[in-house]
Amino acid sequence: MHAMVLNKPRTPLQWTESPDRRPGPGQIRVKVLACGVCRTDLHVLDGELPHPNSPIIPGHEIVGRIDALGEGVAGMALGQRVGIPWLGHTCGVCPYCRAQRENLCDAPLFTGYTRDGGFANATIADARFAFPLGETGEDASLAPLLCAGLIGWRSLKIAGDGKKLGLYGFGAAGHIVAQIARWQRREVYAFTRPGDAKGQDFARSLGVVWAGGSDEAPPQPLDAAIIYATAGELVPAALRAIRKGGRVVCAGIHMSDIPSFPYEILWEERQILSVANLTRADGVEFLGLVPQMGLVVKTTTYPLQQANQALADLRAGRFEGAAVLLP
Ligand SMILES: [Zn+2]
Ligand SMILES: [Zn+2]
Repeated sequence: MHAMVLNKPRTPLQWTESPDRRPGPGQIRVKVLACGVCRTDLHVLDGELPHPNSPIIPGHEIVGRIDALGEGVAGMALGQRVGIPWLGHTCGVCPYCRAQRENLCDAPLFTGYTRDGGFANATIADARFAFPLGETGEDASLAPLLCAGLIGWRSLKIAGDGKKLGLYGFGAAGHIVAQIARWQRREVYAFTRPGDAKGQDFARSLGVVWAGGSDEAPPQPLDAAIIYATAGELVPAALRAIRKGGRVVCAGIHMSDIPSFPYEILWEERQILSVANLTRADGVEFLGLVPQMGLVVKTTTYPLQQANQALADLRAGRFEGAAVLLP
């Protein structure tokens, strides 16, 4: 197999060839067809998350086909197309796992962070954490749904069912969630970097009712706001944009420090919450609804060898939508 490997944080990924791996008991080996590039990959690269395994193969938005089955894998077949998400393994016995909150498991493994991921032509996954994808939809368009879509779905649920929804950051997740929210008959208000007219036009092209800079106030108070960008100063900005009793949901895995803010913008039962990871139930629910949603996922594809370029372009905001690597 070959892969783009992170040997240690803050160094470029390196093309590496290694012997094919065999799936262990309960595992599948998947031939990777496409793997999305997520902002979390940048956090792994930059050493902003604690305790990464390195060397590690990043990538946790994997679409592939099973090409080897480990002992004891039931209900999956060779050649089947599957999706492999960020949540790669949970312990099943901790209080969170027992309470159907496996996204908060005390001893998890995360794909592309603490176990090898999909910036490769093949990967090994715990079969219980892979989602059957069926044959509808293109590989590259499905890949970003495995994290941007899925975490987006979870963050939408946590935001509650208010009609007026703000999205701060309009990248891979934002552009998918805007479409899901429209499908749910919500009004979406998109906040981009101040002055990003192109990003605001892109948001309008997806049917948002308003697009502006994150330094602007929406035309009316919002029921909830979800923050996908990594800038902590967006938390007080979003608090100022929501109504009494509204919610601000922080959907990223890492954020710069949140500046202090006057209590009055939190007062009146406004809430700040974060979203961590996903459960398998989220995945089954979301992927089951995707065929009805009519999502148009905007992708920019790169050959696997150009993973460093894709990451640099993501960092610099040089494309709209999501980047996807093709092995
Ligand atoms: Zn991700
Ligand atoms: Zn657990």
